[in-house]
Amino acid sequence: MKQVTLGAMRVDKLWEMDGALPMPMVLPGVTREDLARLKRWYWSEELAEEPEQAGFKLSVHSYVLRVDGLNILVDACNGNHKTRSMPFANDLRTDWLERLAGLGIAPGDIDIVMCTHLHADHVGWNTRLENGRWVPTFPNARYVFSRKDYEHWRREDAEPMHREAFADSVLPVVEAGRAEIVESDHVVHREIGDGIWLQDIHGHSPGLVAIHAERGGGHALFTGDCFHHPVQLVRPDLHFFADEEGAIASRQRVRLFETYADSEVVFFPAHFAGKSAGRVRRDGAAFRFEFLD
Ligand SMILES: [Zn+2]
Repeated sequence: MKQVTLGAMRVDKLWEMDGALPMPMVLPGVTREDLARLKRWYWSEELAEEPEQAGFKLSVHSYVLRVDGLNILVDACNGNHKTRSMPFANDLRTDWLERLAGLGIAPGDIDIVMCTHLHADHVGWNTRLENGRWVPTFPNARYVFSRKDYEHWRREDAEPMHREAFADSVLPVVEAGRAEIVESDHVVHREIGDGIWLQDIHGHSPGLVAIHAERGGGHALFTGDCFHHPVQLVRPDLHFFADEEGAIASRQRVRLFETYADSEVVFFPAHFAGKSAGRVRRDGAAFRFEFLD
């Protein structure tokens, strides 16, 4: 994705890694017809006409939003040096921080970190290792976390995979006094008429929020893990394997697409590979994604 200018806002994608999983495992129920419909407006080398042969590609990335002189980081990927039970995320050594520098931004320049939810692949860079301790990567930032996810992963019986990340990538930020635990409809920043605010789209996780940013006639919508792949615009109803409350997550997808289809709102999904950003369009009874150039 090239840098996107929307009204008085600029958005850059800050990529960490790509991965692919078998389509039938990730999205059980996807059919040959669904993939044929997808092929009319999107295709990629890991896809195949038969679902059994198709891969489901995911990108892990953050977005950097610049508005009103603020540098805002949306989601924080997996991070480096984290001990994870998922092998693909264990002890990573990516140059994500160098890529941030390539955008002209040092860690101390980030004003706000916003996590759409507190899963391991969205909180990792919240902290970095310093003399054997996890410290906030962005020393001057306030970190915005949704209360529902925070309360969920505080519980000792919550899923171990995300508890690992909570312990080394969320708690140290709270202990450093840099966290702001907010409700799912919180307003983060407001100038007259415009601003940045949250929308509750829980289902994939209990506290998943979408982040709206509107300024100077542009409207960006950071949709977190409401959906993961373009094929979910063809079949928003299908259960995605990592959605915690599958039926609710499906309803949230449909609702978000219906609300903003055929509008000028630009979606910034958390896991679309390649161009990543675009607008949602109606396509008969389904939807399609119109990627920005
Ligand atoms: Zn995710």
